[in-house]
Amino acid sequence: MLQPETPAKCCSYCGGRDHNYEDCPKRKADGERQKEGASLATPCNSAQ
Ligand SMILES: [Zn+2]
Repeated sequence: MLQPETPAKCCSYCGGRDHNYEDCPKRKADGERQKEGASLATPCNSAQ
């Protein structure tokens, strides 16, 4: 019944926590421009 405030999602692309890497809108946008190759990954575990 109770929904966790922070779902177990962690985007390793832009560092978003509201979606997964596979569901990253930014990745899709970048994917249209250029193929996978950008290494601008921002792990969520990075210190703030
Ligand atoms: Zn993302």
